[in-house]
Amino acid sequence: MSDSIERNAAEIARGVNSGAFSAAELTRSMLAHIDRTEPQVGAYLSVLHERAAATAARVDERIKQGERLPLAGVPLAVKDNMCLEGTRTTCGSKILEHWTSPYTATAVQRLLDAGCIPVGKANMDEFAMGSSCENSALGVTRNPYDLERVPGGSSGGSASAVAAFEAAIGMGSDTGGSIREPAAFCNLVGFKPTYGRVSRYGLIAFASSLDQIGPLTRTVEDAALAYDAMGGHDPMDATSIDRPFETTADGLRTDLRGVRVGIVREFATKELGPEIDALYAKAYRDLEALGAELVEVALPTAEYGLATYYLIAPAECSSNLARFDGVRYGLRVEGANVHEMYERTRAAGFGPEVKRRILIGTYALSSGYYDAYYVRAQKARTLIAQDFAKAFASCDLIAAPAASSPAFTFNAKSDPYSMYLMDYYTIPMSLAGLPALSVPCGWVTPPGGASPMPMGLQLTAPLFAERALLSAAHAYERATGHAAAQRPVIAMEATQ
Ligand code: GLN
Repeated sequence: MSDSIERNAAEIARGVNSGAFSAAELTRSMLAHIDRTEPQVGAYLSVLHERAAATAARVDERIKQGERLPLAGVPLAVKDNMCLEGTRTTCGSKILEHWTSPYTATAVQRLLDAGCIPVGKANMDEFAMGSSCENSALGVTRNPYDLERVPGGSSGGSASAVAAFEAAIGMGSDTGGSIREPAAFCNLVGFKPTYGRVSRYGLIAFASSLDQIGPLTRTVEDAALAYDAMGGHDPMDATSIDRPFETTADGLRTDLRGVRVGIVREFATKELGPEIDALYAKAYRDLEALGAELVEVALPTAEYGLATYYLIAPAECSSNLARFDGVRYGLRVEGANVHEMYERTRAAGFGPEVKRRILIGTYALSSGYYDAYYVRAQKARTLIAQDFAKAFASCDLIAAPAASSPAFTFNAKSDPYSMYLMDYYTIPMSLAGLPALSVPCGWVTPPGGASPMPMGLQLTAPLFAERALLSAAHAYERATGHAAAQRPVIAMEATQ
Protein backbone atom coordinates (compact mmCIF):
# COMPACT_ATOMS: atom_id res chain seq x y z
CA MET A 1 0.00 0.00 0.00
CA SER A 2 2.98 2.36 0.13
CA ASP A 3 2.07 4.09 -3.15
CA SER A 4 -1.56 4.54 -2.13
CA ILE A 5 -0.83 7.65 -0.13
CA GLU A 6 0.19 9.39 -3.35
CA ARG A 7 -3.20 8.90 -4.95
CA ASN A 8 -5.25 11.98 -5.67
CA ALA A 9 -8.67 12.52 -4.15
CA ALA A 10 -10.54 11.42 -7.30
CA GLU A 11 -8.56 8.14 -7.44
CA ILE A 12 -9.04 7.45 -3.74
CA ALA A 13 -12.80 8.00 -3.96
CA ARG A 14 -13.01 5.68 -6.96
CA GLY A 15 -10.98 2.99 -5.15
CA VAL A 16 -12.98 3.15 -1.93
CA ASN A 17 -16.37 3.33 -3.69
CA SER A 18 -15.51 0.32 -5.86
CA GLY A 19 -14.16 -1.70 -2.95
CA ALA A 20 -10.60 -1.89 -4.42
CA PHE A 21 -9.33 -0.77 -1.00
CA SER A 22 -10.97 0.43 2.17
CA ALA A 23 -10.93 3.83 3.80
CA ALA A 24 -9.56 2.14 6.94
CA GLU A 25 -6.57 0.65 5.09
CA LEU A 26 -5.74 3.90 3.36
CA THR A 27 -6.09 5.86 6.61
CA ARG A 28 -3.67 3.49 8.36
CA SER A 29 -1.02 3.94 5.62
CA MET A 30 -1.63 7.69 5.65
CA LEU A 31 -1.20 8.04 9.42
CA ALA A 32 1.99 5.96 9.28
CA HIS A 33 3.32 8.20 6.51
CA ILE A 34 2.37 11.31 8.50
CA ASP A 35 4.16 10.00 11.61
CA ARG A 36 7.27 9.33 9.51
CA THR A 37 7.22 12.63 7.62
CA GLU A 38 6.08 15.15 10.21
CA PRO A 39 9.39 15.50 12.06
CA GLN A 40 10.82 17.03 8.87
CA VAL A 41 7.82 18.89 7.44
CA GLY A 42 5.77 20.02 10.44
CA ALA A 43 2.56 20.56 8.49
CA TYR A 44 0.23 19.73 11.37
CA LEU A 45 -0.44 21.21 14.79
CA SER A 46 -2.50 18.12 15.71
CA VAL A 47 -2.63 14.73 14.03
CA LEU A 48 -6.03 13.13 14.62
CA HIS A 49 -5.13 9.42 14.80
CA GLU A 50 -8.25 8.20 16.59
CA ARG A 51 -10.68 10.56 14.95
CA ALA A 52 -9.38 9.57 11.50
CA ALA A 53 -9.59 5.85 12.22
CA ALA A 54 -13.13 6.14 13.60
CA THR A 55 -14.30 8.26 10.64
CA ALA A 56 -12.75 5.81 8.17
CA ALA A 57 -14.60 2.90 9.80
CA ARG A 58 -17.87 4.81 9.41
CA VAL A 59 -17.15 5.61 5.76
CA ASP A 60 -16.42 1.92 5.07
CA GLU A 61 -19.69 1.04 6.78
CA ARG A 62 -21.63 3.48 4.57
CA ILE A 63 -19.98 2.02 1.45
CA LYS A 64 -20.87 -1.49 2.62
CA GLN A 65 -24.49 -0.39 2.98
CA GLY A 66 -24.44 0.60 -0.70
CA GLU A 67 -23.84 4.34 -0.43
CA ARG A 68 -21.50 6.04 -2.92
CA LEU A 69 -19.63 9.11 -1.64
CA PRO A 70 -17.92 11.69 -3.88
CA LEU A 71 -14.87 11.90 -1.58
CA ALA A 72 -14.96 8.45 0.04
CA GLY A 73 -11.88 7.88 2.18
CA VAL A 74 -10.04 11.06 1.09
CA PRO A 75 -7.56 12.25 3.74
CA LEU A 76 -8.24 15.87 4.66
CA ALA A 77 -6.00 18.51 6.26
CA VAL A 78 -8.07 21.17 8.03
CA LYS A 79 -6.47 24.58 8.53
CA ASP A 80 -6.37 25.32 12.24
CA ASN A 81 -8.71 28.30 12.01
CA MET A 82 -11.64 26.03 11.15
CA CYS A 83 -13.69 24.35 13.82
CA LEU A 84 -13.90 20.57 14.04
CA GLU A 85 -15.91 19.58 17.07
CA GLY A 86 -13.82 18.20 19.92
CA THR A 87 -10.44 19.14 18.39
CA ARG A 88 -8.05 21.88 19.29
CA THR A 89 -8.47 24.94 17.03
CA THR A 90 -5.59 27.27 17.70
CA CYS A 91 -5.36 29.71 14.77
CA GLY A 92 -1.61 29.26 15.22
CA SER A 93 -1.86 31.52 18.29
CA LYS A 94 -0.91 31.19 21.93
CA ILE A 95 -4.19 32.83 22.83
CA LEU A 96 -6.13 29.79 21.51
CA GLU A 97 -3.42 27.16 22.09
CA HIS A 98 -5.66 25.10 24.37
CA TRP A 99 -9.07 25.98 22.95
CA THR A 100 -11.31 23.15 21.74
CA SER A 101 -14.00 23.70 19.08
CA PRO A 102 -17.50 23.10 20.41
CA TYR A 103 -18.94 22.53 16.91
CA THR A 104 -17.89 21.85 13.31
CA ALA A 105 -17.58 24.46 10.55
CA THR A 106 -20.08 24.02 7.71
CA ALA A 107 -17.40 23.64 5.01
CA VAL A 108 -15.58 20.99 7.08
CA GLN A 109 -18.85 19.16 7.82
CA ARG A 110 -19.78 19.07 4.15
CA LEU A 111 -16.44 17.47 3.26
CA LEU A 112 -16.93 14.92 6.05
CA ASP A 113 -20.43 14.18 4.75
CA ALA A 114 -18.88 13.60 1.31
CA GLY A 115 -16.59 10.94 2.81
CA CYS A 116 -13.40 12.80 3.79
CA ILE A 117 -11.23 11.60 6.67
CA PRO A 118 -9.87 14.42 8.88
CA VAL A 119 -6.24 13.39 9.49
CA GLY A 120 -4.99 16.61 11.05
CA LYS A 121 -5.30 20.30 11.86
CA ALA A 122 -2.77 22.23 9.82
CA ASN A 123 -0.35 24.96 10.89
CA MET A 124 -0.88 28.54 9.76
CA ASP A 125 0.30 32.09 10.29
CA GLU A 126 -1.24 33.38 13.49
CA PHE A 127 -4.88 34.33 12.77
CA ALA A 128 -4.05 33.92 9.04
CA MET A 129 -1.86 37.04 9.02
CA GLY A 130 1.21 36.31 6.95
CA SER A 131 2.56 34.77 3.77
CA SER A 132 5.07 32.19 4.99
CA CYS A 133 3.69 30.39 8.06
CA GLU A 134 6.57 31.96 9.99
CA ASN A 135 4.06 33.94 12.05
CA SER A 136 2.71 30.77 13.64
CA ALA A 137 3.31 30.88 17.39
CA LEU A 138 3.06 27.10 17.61
CA GLY A 139 5.38 25.48 15.11
CA VAL A 140 7.61 25.63 12.04
CA THR A 141 6.34 24.28 8.71
CA ARG A 142 8.78 23.52 5.90
CA ASN A 143 8.35 23.42 2.14
CA PRO A 144 8.42 19.78 0.98
CA TYR A 145 10.33 20.81 -2.19
CA ASP A 146 13.18 22.38 -0.19
CA LEU A 147 13.17 22.07 3.58
CA GLU A 148 15.19 25.28 3.93
CA ARG A 149 12.29 27.23 2.44
CA VAL A 150 8.89 28.37 3.66
CA PRO A 151 5.68 26.72 2.41
CA GLY A 152 3.96 30.08 1.97
CA GLY A 153 1.03 31.26 4.01
CA SER A 154 -1.10 31.73 5.69
CA SER A 155 -2.45 28.26 4.74
CA GLY A 156 1.13 26.88 4.75
CA GLY A 157 0.39 23.78 6.83
CA SER A 158 -2.42 22.67 4.51
CA ALA A 159 -0.16 23.30 1.50
CA SER A 160 2.79 21.35 2.82
CA ALA A 161 0.56 18.52 4.00
CA VAL A 162 -0.87 18.04 0.50
CA ALA A 163 2.50 18.51 -1.22
CA ALA A 164 4.14 15.93 1.10
CA PHE A 165 1.28 13.45 0.47
CA GLU A 166 0.14 13.83 4.09
CA ALA A 167 -3.39 14.59 2.80
CA ALA A 168 -5.09 14.68 -0.60
CA ILE A 169 -7.19 17.76 0.10
CA GLY A 170 -6.10 20.68 2.26
CA MET A 171 -8.60 23.26 3.42
CA GLY A 172 -7.32 26.81 3.30
CA SER A 173 -8.73 30.26 3.90
CA ASP A 174 -7.82 33.17 1.66
CA THR A 175 -8.23 36.79 2.75
CA GLY A 176 -5.64 38.35 0.46
CA GLY A 177 -3.84 35.38 -1.07
CA SER A 178 -3.50 32.76 1.65
CA ILE A 179 -4.66 29.85 -0.52
CA ARG A 180 -3.13 30.92 -3.84
CA GLU A 181 0.37 31.87 -2.64
CA PRO A 182 1.10 28.69 -0.63
CA ALA A 183 -0.35 26.65 -3.51
CA ALA A 184 2.14 28.34 -5.85
CA PHE A 185 5.01 27.75 -3.40
CA CYS A 186 4.17 24.05 -2.96
CA ASN A 187 3.33 23.00 -6.55
CA LEU A 188 -0.41 22.78 -5.89
CA VAL A 189 -3.71 24.00 -7.19
CA GLY A 190 -5.16 26.54 -4.74
CA PHE A 191 -8.66 27.82 -5.34
CA LYS A 192 -10.42 30.79 -3.73
CA PRO A 193 -14.11 30.79 -4.72
CA THR A 194 -16.31 33.89 -5.09
CA TYR A 195 -16.80 35.63 -1.75
CA GLY A 196 -19.92 34.12 -0.18
CA ARG A 197 -19.87 30.86 -2.15
CA VAL A 198 -18.42 28.75 0.68
CA SER A 199 -19.83 29.21 4.16
CA ARG A 200 -17.62 30.94 6.74
CA TYR A 201 -19.62 29.48 9.64
CA GLY A 202 -17.03 27.96 11.96
CA LEU A 203 -14.09 29.77 10.33
CA ILE A 204 -12.49 31.99 12.97
CA ALA A 205 -12.72 35.44 11.41
CA PHE A 206 -9.73 37.56 10.39
CA ALA A 207 -11.27 40.11 7.97
CA SER A 208 -14.88 39.10 7.49
CA SER A 209 -15.54 40.97 4.24
CA LEU A 210 -12.60 39.18 2.58
CA ASP A 211 -12.21 35.74 4.22
CA GLN A 212 -13.11 32.84 1.97
CA ILE A 213 -12.54 29.09 2.38
CA GLY A 214 -11.25 26.96 -0.49
CA PRO A 215 -9.25 23.82 -1.32
CA LEU A 216 -5.55 23.13 -1.92
CA THR A 217 -5.03 19.99 -4.00
CA ARG A 218 -2.58 18.33 -6.36
CA THR A 219 -4.96 18.48 -9.36
CA VAL A 220 -7.66 20.81 -10.68
CA GLU A 221 -10.13 17.91 -10.72
CA ASP A 222 -9.60 17.42 -6.98
CA ALA A 223 -10.11 21.14 -6.37
CA ALA A 224 -13.39 20.95 -8.30
CA LEU A 225 -14.57 17.90 -6.35
CA ALA A 226 -13.72 19.57 -3.04
CA TYR A 227 -15.43 22.81 -4.04
CA ASP A 228 -18.55 20.99 -5.24
CA ALA A 229 -18.77 19.28 -1.84
CA MET A 230 -18.09 22.32 0.37
CA GLY A 231 -19.84 25.11 -1.57
CA GLY A 232 -23.39 26.38 -1.63
CA HIS A 233 -25.71 28.38 0.56
CA ASP A 234 -25.62 28.09 4.35
CA PRO A 235 -28.24 29.85 6.48
CA MET A 236 -25.72 29.91 9.37
CA ASP A 237 -23.55 32.47 7.54
CA ALA A 238 -25.28 35.80 6.85
CA THR A 239 -22.88 36.56 3.97
CA SER A 240 -23.38 33.18 2.30
CA ILE A 241 -24.95 33.68 -1.11
CA ASP A 242 -28.35 32.17 -1.71
CA ARG A 243 -28.43 31.52 -5.42
CA PRO A 244 -28.27 28.28 -7.41
CA PHE A 245 -24.95 26.50 -7.03
CA GLU A 246 -23.21 25.35 -10.20
CA THR A 247 -21.12 22.22 -9.85
CA THR A 248 -17.74 22.23 -11.53
CA ALA A 249 -16.20 18.74 -11.59
CA ASP A 250 -18.59 17.58 -14.32
CA GLY A 251 -17.63 20.42 -16.69
CA LEU A 252 -13.84 20.28 -16.98
CA ARG A 253 -12.71 20.99 -20.54
CA THR A 254 -9.51 20.09 -22.32
CA ASP A 255 -9.14 23.13 -24.58
CA LEU A 256 -9.61 26.88 -24.43
CA ARG A 257 -11.25 27.49 -27.78
CA GLY A 258 -13.44 30.57 -27.68
CA VAL A 259 -12.03 31.75 -24.32
CA ARG A 260 -10.67 35.31 -24.20
CA VAL A 261 -7.87 35.59 -21.65
CA GLY A 262 -6.95 39.06 -20.41
CA ILE A 263 -3.30 39.86 -19.72
CA VAL A 264 -3.06 42.80 -17.33
CA ARG A 265 -1.06 45.72 -18.69
CA GLU A 266 -0.04 46.87 -15.20
CA PHE A 267 1.21 43.41 -14.20
CA ALA A 268 4.20 43.36 -16.56
CA THR A 269 6.45 40.58 -15.29
CA LYS A 270 9.73 42.15 -16.53
CA GLU A 271 10.56 43.50 -13.08
CA LEU A 272 10.39 39.96 -11.67
CA GLY A 273 13.64 39.10 -13.50
CA PRO A 274 14.32 37.51 -16.89
CA GLU A 275 13.75 33.90 -15.79
CA ILE A 276 10.35 34.52 -14.22
CA ASP A 277 9.37 36.91 -17.01
CA ALA A 278 10.11 34.18 -19.58
CA LEU A 279 8.18 31.64 -17.53
CA TYR A 280 4.98 33.74 -17.54
CA ALA A 281 5.41 34.68 -21.20
CA LYS A 282 5.51 30.94 -21.92
CA ALA A 283 2.46 30.29 -19.73
CA TYR A 284 0.46 32.90 -21.67
CA ARG A 285 1.61 31.40 -24.99
CA ASP A 286 0.53 27.96 -23.76
CA LEU A 287 -2.95 29.33 -23.06
CA GLU A 288 -3.00 30.65 -26.63
CA ALA A 289 -1.85 27.30 -27.99
CA LEU A 290 -4.89 25.74 -26.32
CA GLY A 291 -7.14 27.99 -28.37
CA ALA A 292 -7.48 31.02 -26.10
CA GLU A 293 -7.45 34.51 -27.55
CA LEU A 294 -5.12 36.77 -25.56
CA VAL A 295 -6.28 40.34 -25.07
CA GLU A 296 -4.65 43.17 -23.15
CA VAL A 297 -6.71 44.54 -20.27
CA ALA A 298 -6.10 47.41 -17.87
CA LEU A 299 -6.46 47.40 -14.09
CA PRO A 300 -5.26 50.95 -13.38
CA THR A 301 -6.24 50.95 -9.71
CA ALA A 302 -4.82 47.49 -8.90
CA GLU A 303 -1.61 49.12 -7.68
CA TYR A 304 -3.59 50.59 -4.78
CA GLY A 305 -4.68 47.10 -3.76
CA LEU A 306 -2.00 46.62 -1.14
CA ALA A 307 -2.58 50.00 0.54
CA THR A 308 -6.34 49.46 0.50
CA TYR A 309 -6.10 45.94 1.88
CA TYR A 310 -3.73 46.97 4.68
CA LEU A 311 -6.37 49.38 5.99
CA ILE A 312 -9.49 47.25 5.52
CA ALA A 313 -8.06 43.93 6.72
CA PRO A 314 -6.47 45.35 9.92
CA ALA A 315 -9.63 47.40 10.63
CA GLU A 316 -11.79 44.29 10.47
CA CYS A 317 -9.22 42.26 12.41
CA SER A 318 -9.08 44.80 15.22
CA SER A 319 -12.81 44.40 15.62
CA ASN A 320 -12.93 40.60 15.18
CA LEU A 321 -10.06 39.94 17.58
CA ALA A 322 -11.54 42.10 20.33
CA ARG A 323 -13.32 38.97 21.59
CA PHE A 324 -10.03 37.40 22.67
CA ASP A 325 -9.72 39.15 26.01
CA GLY A 326 -9.46 36.35 28.55
CA VAL A 327 -13.18 36.34 29.36
CA ARG A 328 -14.62 33.74 27.08
CA TYR A 329 -12.13 32.04 24.75
CA GLY A 330 -8.73 30.54 25.38
CA LEU A 331 -5.93 32.10 27.39
CA ARG A 332 -6.52 34.21 30.51
CA VAL A 333 -3.74 35.94 32.42
CA GLU A 334 -5.14 37.22 35.74
CA GLY A 335 -4.65 40.81 36.82
CA ALA A 336 -5.59 43.08 39.74
CA ASN A 337 -8.72 44.20 37.90
CA VAL A 338 -10.54 43.42 34.67
CA HIS A 339 -8.56 45.94 32.59
CA GLU A 340 -5.28 44.53 33.76
CA MET A 341 -6.57 41.05 32.95
CA TYR A 342 -7.44 42.12 29.37
CA GLU A 343 -4.08 43.79 28.96
CA ARG A 344 -2.03 40.92 30.28
CA THR A 345 -4.00 38.32 28.35
CA ARG A 346 -3.67 40.12 25.04
CA ALA A 347 -0.01 41.05 25.63
CA ALA A 348 0.88 37.42 26.35
CA GLY A 349 -1.49 35.80 23.85
CA PHE A 350 -0.92 37.69 20.58
CA GLY A 351 2.30 37.67 18.53
CA PRO A 352 3.96 40.77 17.03
CA GLU A 353 2.24 40.73 13.61
CA VAL A 354 -1.22 40.35 15.14
CA LYS A 355 -0.52 43.20 17.54
CA ARG A 356 0.71 45.38 14.67
CA ARG A 357 -2.50 44.76 12.71
CA ILE A 358 -4.71 45.44 15.74
CA LEU A 359 -2.91 48.75 16.32
CA ILE A 360 -3.15 49.82 12.67
CA GLY A 361 -6.80 48.78 12.47
CA THR A 362 -7.82 50.46 15.71
CA TYR A 363 -6.09 53.66 14.59
CA ALA A 364 -7.76 53.59 11.16
CA LEU A 365 -11.18 53.17 12.76
CA SER A 366 -10.76 55.76 15.48
CA SER A 367 -12.88 58.88 15.38
CA GLY A 368 -11.28 61.64 13.36
CA TYR A 369 -9.34 59.16 11.21
CA TYR A 370 -12.21 56.95 10.10
CA ASP A 371 -13.09 59.04 7.03
CA ALA A 372 -9.48 59.69 6.09
CA TYR A 373 -8.47 56.02 6.19
CA TYR A 374 -11.22 53.45 6.42
CA VAL A 375 -13.85 55.21 4.27
CA ARG A 376 -11.22 56.13 1.68
CA ALA A 377 -10.02 52.54 1.54
CA GLN A 378 -13.59 51.38 0.97
CA LYS A 379 -13.86 53.81 -1.94
CA ALA A 380 -10.62 52.52 -3.42
CA ARG A 381 -11.97 49.00 -3.03
CA THR A 382 -15.02 49.93 -5.12
CA LEU A 383 -12.80 51.41 -7.84
CA ILE A 384 -10.72 48.22 -7.97
CA ALA A 385 -13.86 46.09 -8.32
CA GLN A 386 -15.08 48.44 -11.10
CA ASP A 387 -11.76 48.03 -12.93
CA PHE A 388 -12.25 44.27 -12.96
CA ALA A 389 -15.82 44.63 -14.18
CA LYS A 390 -14.58 46.81 -17.07
CA ALA A 391 -11.81 44.36 -17.89
CA PHE A 392 -14.26 41.46 -17.99
CA ALA A 393 -16.23 43.30 -20.69
CA SER A 394 -13.45 42.29 -23.08
CA CYS A 395 -12.28 38.96 -21.63
CA ASP A 396 -13.60 35.83 -19.91
CA LEU A 397 -10.63 35.18 -17.61
CA ILE A 398 -7.59 37.10 -16.44
CA ALA A 399 -4.15 35.51 -16.28
CA ALA A 400 -1.43 36.83 -13.95
CA PRO A 401 1.31 35.58 -11.64
CA ALA A 402 0.16 34.13 -8.31
CA ALA A 403 3.25 35.37 -6.45
CA SER A 404 6.21 37.49 -7.45
CA SER A 405 8.85 34.91 -6.52
CA PRO A 406 9.19 31.24 -5.66
CA ALA A 407 9.27 30.14 -2.02
CA PHE A 408 11.94 32.01 -0.06
CA THR A 409 14.22 30.85 2.76
CA PHE A 410 13.31 31.23 6.43
CA ASN A 411 13.81 34.76 7.83
CA ALA A 412 14.40 36.18 4.34
CA LYS A 413 11.54 38.71 4.72
CA SER A 414 12.38 40.27 8.03
CA ASP A 415 10.51 43.55 7.59
CA PRO A 416 6.71 43.41 7.41
CA TYR A 417 6.49 45.38 4.17
CA SER A 418 8.55 42.94 2.12
CA MET A 419 6.26 40.17 3.39
CA TYR A 420 3.15 42.20 2.45
CA LEU A 421 4.51 42.56 -1.08
CA MET A 422 4.17 38.79 -1.59
CA ASP A 423 0.44 39.31 -2.13
CA TYR A 424 0.72 42.10 -4.67
CA TYR A 425 -0.94 39.99 -7.39
CA THR A 426 -3.60 38.27 -5.28
CA ILE A 427 -5.00 41.08 -3.14
CA PRO A 428 -6.89 42.98 -5.89
CA MET A 429 -8.99 39.87 -6.65
CA SER A 430 -9.78 39.45 -2.95
CA LEU A 431 -10.91 43.07 -2.66
CA ALA A 432 -13.22 42.52 -5.63
CA GLY A 433 -14.55 39.22 -4.19
CA LEU A 434 -13.67 37.36 -7.39
CA PRO A 435 -13.00 33.64 -7.80
CA ALA A 436 -9.31 33.02 -8.50
CA LEU A 437 -6.90 30.12 -8.42
CA SER A 438 -3.25 29.26 -8.76
CA VAL A 439 -2.16 26.36 -10.97
CA PRO A 440 1.47 25.14 -11.34
CA CYS A 441 3.16 26.83 -14.34
CA GLY A 442 6.82 25.84 -14.17
CA TRP A 443 9.98 25.84 -12.09
CA VAL A 444 12.78 28.27 -11.36
CA THR A 445 15.95 27.72 -9.38
CA PRO A 446 16.31 30.59 -6.91
CA PRO A 447 19.80 32.10 -6.52
CA GLY A 448 21.70 29.85 -4.13
CA GLY A 449 18.79 27.40 -4.03
CA ALA A 450 19.32 23.66 -3.77
CA SER A 451 16.53 22.65 -6.13
CA PRO A 452 14.07 24.07 -8.63
CA MET A 453 11.00 25.60 -6.99
CA PRO A 454 7.48 25.76 -8.40
CA MET A 455 5.69 28.88 -9.63
CA GLY A 456 1.94 29.46 -9.99
CA LEU A 457 -0.21 30.94 -12.73
CA GLN A 458 -3.16 32.85 -11.32
CA LEU A 459 -6.42 32.70 -13.24
CA THR A 460 -9.32 34.96 -12.21
CA ALA A 461 -12.93 34.85 -13.40
CA PRO A 462 -15.97 37.12 -13.03
CA LEU A 463 -18.14 36.62 -9.93
CA PHE A 464 -19.71 33.13 -9.83
CA ALA A 465 -17.85 31.89 -12.92
CA GLU A 466 -16.21 29.06 -10.95
CA ARG A 467 -17.14 26.50 -13.58
CA ALA A 468 -15.40 28.34 -16.41
CA LEU A 469 -12.42 29.08 -14.17
CA LEU A 470 -11.75 25.50 -13.07
CA SER A 471 -12.42 24.25 -16.58
CA ALA A 472 -9.75 26.52 -18.05
CA ALA A 473 -7.27 25.60 -15.33
CA HIS A 474 -7.91 21.93 -16.06
CA ALA A 475 -7.21 22.41 -19.78
CA TYR A 476 -3.96 24.24 -18.96
CA GLU A 477 -2.88 21.63 -16.39
CA ARG A 478 -3.50 18.73 -18.77
CA ALA A 479 -1.63 20.36 -21.63
CA THR A 480 1.41 21.47 -19.62
CA GLY A 481 1.77 18.94 -16.78
CA HIS A 482 4.21 21.16 -14.85
CA ALA A 483 3.35 19.70 -11.44
CA ALA A 484 4.80 16.28 -12.33
CA ALA A 485 8.22 17.63 -13.32
CA GLN A 486 9.72 17.44 -9.81
CA ARG A 487 9.00 15.40 -6.72
CA PRO A 488 9.04 16.69 -3.15
CA VAL A 489 12.31 15.82 -1.45
CA ILE A 490 10.36 14.43 1.44
CA ALA A 491 8.28 11.85 -0.45
CA MET A 492 11.36 10.59 -2.24
CA GLU A 493 12.97 9.86 1.10
CA ALA A 494 9.84 8.21 2.43
CA THR A 495 9.24 5.86 -0.49
CA GLN A 496 12.83 4.92 -1.35
N1 GLN B 1 -0.63 37.65 3.50
C1 GLN B 1 -1.82 38.43 3.63
C2 GLN B 1 -1.90 38.96 5.04
O1 GLN B 1 -0.98 38.80 5.76
C3 GLN B 1 -3.03 37.61 3.28
C4 GLN B 1 -3.37 36.63 4.34
C5 GLN B 1 -4.59 35.84 4.04
O2 GLN B 1 -5.03 35.74 2.91
N2 GLN B 1 -5.16 35.29 5.10
O3 GLN B 1 -2.87 39.52 5.45
